[in-house]
Amino acid sequence: MDMQATRADFPILERKINGKPLIYFDNAATTQKPRQVLHTIQEFYRTYNANIHRSTHTLGLQATELYEQAHENVARFIGADDGQEIVFVRNSTEAINLVAYSLLCPDSGRWHLRRGDEVLVTVMEHHSNLVPWQMISRWIGVALKVIDISDDRVLDLEQLRAALSTRTKLVCCSHVSNVLGTINPVREIGQLAHQVGALFLVDGAQSAPHMPVDVKELGCDFFAFSGHKMLAPMGIGVLYGRRELLEEMSPFLYGGDMIASVTLQAATWNKLPWKFEAGTANVCGGIALGGATDLSSEQHLEGAVDYLERIGMARVRAHEEELAEYALQGLRGIGGVHIYGPLTAKERGGVVAFTVEQGDAHLVAKLLDDEGIAVRAGGHCAHPLAHRLRAGATVRVSFYIYNTREEVDYFLNVLEDIIRHKLV
Ligand code: PMP
Repeated sequence: MDMQATRADFPILERKINGKPLIYFDNAATTQKPRQVLHTIQEFYRTYNANIHRSTHTLGLQATELYEQAHENVARFIGADDGQEIVFVRNSTEAINLVAYSLLCPDSGRWHLRRGDEVLVTVMEHHSNLVPWQMISRWIGVALKVIDISDDRVLDLEQLRAALSTRTKLVCCSHVSNVLGTINPVREIGQLAHQVGALFLVDGAQSAPHMPVDVKELGCDFFAFSGHKMLAPMGIGVLYGRRELLEEMSPFLYGGDMIASVTLQAATWNKLPWKFEAGTANVCGGIALGGATDLSSEQHLEGAVDYLERIGMARVRAHEEELAEYALQGLRGIGGVHIYGPLTAKERGGVVAFTVEQGDAHLVAKLLDDEGIAVRAGGHCAHPLAHRLRAGATVRVSFYIYNTREEVDYFLNVLEDIIRHKLV
């Protein structure tokens, strides 16, 4: 990877924080945006802004064409059949809520969740893949079963096998944990879920931005991820759903654009994916995520997906794996640091959470910030996991394409200094 050229694409990296060059290690929370995506955002509003699927004037048609292309490009990026399997939403949270609310609706036919059905989640889920299922459980008496981790690092697949039965209607699992970094064996989990006739939902918020993902190869029924964690702006996310499922499922939100026909008494639904995209869409966000070409001028509006595909997702993964391995080695060499999650980078994404003996995680994060290093401290929206690990708050560093070994070196030096001199 050409690090100099990559870094030059991210204007924010020129910033100084507390007089020090910004080292941005909070990529699991959100990523920075390259100038190509910033240009697309500006160009959309300067040149193409109009509502989609409504007005038939030239601008409206162009905006519609660009937005629809963006769906196709995202479909290609994750190996979906086509744009009909790609629903643009706000973020991973909304994607998962869409599935939950849809399955709650009696119109979802054989997928409708009922009292006595079971939904399986894991103890390492982000709140966004736990709380919606808690609410479904509370509202209609669906049993929520939670799969534990076996050794503080990986899912207990034996427990998962034992928990599955013909009552299981849905298995929900993160692809990569945003705390432990663990890469879960989602292909295997999906096969187990399907053996009992359950649907399989993958939370891909920490995988799609960081490694090659092919939803057909993974064998999942739903796959959720957020644009803002992969170079696109905030407010655009994706739900992939298998076409047959999306066809059968009830919409989540009702209103404009998601209908085919409306009378005072009833309505019928638009074709996929628009059936699930009610109201005015985040058109600019969708294009900034997927990219699109204006066919009349041949101007290409580069999306986050274009940017990542140019690097190649295998290279993105290799780069992060190298940084994670380097950081793990360095952290292991500092006395008093306890690392959570798998011990080698091969088994984890580019996320490393740790605690410092007798050091408050928030204070450590603050002292790192004093030196220009942005990390996150806390429970990382996965409080049950923090509780399970008896960890409380942890410090989390998370890497992306613009991070370097030199930045990791600087971070390790500062951390060592903090532990030696400042935590008294
Ligand atoms: N799942 C995981 C694993 C995450 O890391 C996050 C974001 N931290 C989410 C879901 C939720 O993402 P968003 O806030 O973009 O909906």
